[in-house]
Amino acid sequence: MTTIKEYVTIKKEELAKRILKLGRKPVIKIIQVNDDYASNTYIKGKIKDVEEIGALAILEKLPITTSEDELLAIIEKTNLDKEVDGFIVQLPLPKHISEEKVKQAVDPKKDLDGFNVLSKFKSATPNGILTFLDDNNYKFEGKNALVIGRSNIVGKPMAKYLLEKNMTVTVAHSKTPNDELRFFVKNADLIIVAVGKANFVDKTYEFKNNAYIFDVGINRNENNKLVGDCEKDLPVAFQSPVPGGVGLLTRLALLINLVEASEKYGL
Ligand code: NDP
Repeated sequence: MTTIKEYVTIKKEELAKRILKLGRKPVIKIIQVNDDYASNTYIKGKIKDVEEIGALAILEKLPITTSEDELLAIIEKTNLDKEVDGFIVQLPLPKHISEEKVKQAVDPKKDLDGFNVLSKFKSATPNGILTFLDDNNYKFEGKNALVIGRSNIVGKPMAKYLLEKNMTVTVAHSKTPNDELRFFVKNADLIIVAVGKANFVDKTYEFKNNAYIFDVGINRNENNKLVGDCEKDLPVAFQSPVPGGVGLLTRLALLINLVEASEKYGL
């Protein structure tokens, strides 16, 4: 198995070649209606990634006083803009704007985040993990998957995609008793941890020694260092690191969706 870092480098080179073949720069628009520190950092990263593969990113930063109707009108305009291959509306949104309305307003063919129920694209984090496993010839069928966390952006779509891969899927959440969770962990071949608590899965758990673990969590520890939801070096066959793991795959998934959008539905 290649490391995630190596894998991402190779995939970005592939995407750059696909863009050269396309003969024009795919365009992604990023609509931001916040001035959130984390969002600013993520957006910077996304723009850098997009430019690295030879595509173009346009940031439309709106004041946080933008009304829901104004934002929906901008989304509608972007849906119709032939110069834009795909776009994302950076979350979180201000409280006066319905996230659900916004997600469903994005044209499914341009919905690079995969948030619209009819989206032509898969949600970035789960899709990043799936694509990595697919490209490493992981055999999903018939194996046990455990997804810890049931958020709309990670846990739920992840569980759905793994079911579509013919895995037997268990979804654990905050109401799952811990002794049950330990039982599921012990029996899982593939574990996706998306809880948002540092060291949530630690060495007190028992694992299959051929288990694969993807640690989605991004937390700050007491020294303000970035850590995942899992203790490091669990006794398994593969554990994605934090940082440098699922975060990189998530960023890559957005690029894959952009190139696909421009190849399939672009000008
Ligand atoms: P949410 O806070 O939306 O969801 C957390 C989930 O964890 C909930 O479903 C919750 O259950 C569950 N949970 C909480 N406590 C327990 C427990 N004791 N046992 C089992 N399950 C529990 O988080 P997200 O899915 O949005 O994100 C999860 C983490 O992943 C965060 O650290 C986030 O920053 C990170 N993240 C990283 C990304 C990346 O690119 N690497 C992308 C997206 C997120 P319940 O539903 O019952 O409340």
